[in-house]
Amino acid sequence: MLNNALFTVDYSEMVIVKDIDFYSLCEHHLLPFFGKCHVAYIPSTKVIGLSKIPRIVDVFARRLQVQERLTNQIADTIRDTIKPMGVAVVMEATHLCMSMRGVEKQNSFAVTSAMHGAFRTSSRTRMEFLELIKLRSAVAGLRDAGGYACLAEEA
Ligand SMILES: [Zn+2]
Repeated sequence: MLNNALFTVDYSEMVIVKDIDFYSLCEHHLLPFFGKCHVAYIPSTKVIGLSKIPRIVDVFARRLQVQERLTNQIADTIRDTIKPMGVAVVMEATHLCMSMRGVEKQNSFAVTSAMHGAFRTSSRTRMEFLELIKLRSAVAGLRDAGGYACLAEEA
């Protein structure tokens, strides 16, 4: 999938691709969940062609999924492919299985994140990323409390 899309560059600033639309199917309820995915990484020696990042999201979304696993798979793929200084993935999704359970939950959505490397070890890097993607929700409160990640994996 990525063989022709890796480039060696001298660039070590954060690369962000945000607001990637995705559409997936919850494996527990066989109902759709969909929303936005935000991806960032800090290259060490290689970068991925920018257009390939939505493609990675797509490949994993197009299966029966749980949002937490989907988030991890995207982050792990980027980490394993280009060995960056850090990679971060945040996904915000509306789950039909959630919204069908009552009016008061219709506008609720789930946020998951996976942080590796610098995004895990440096709160400044993490904040910069979160600031740049400006989540649309009350997640800001959690962010300030430093407990943003519903789901985070060891780097
Ligand atoms: Zn579900």
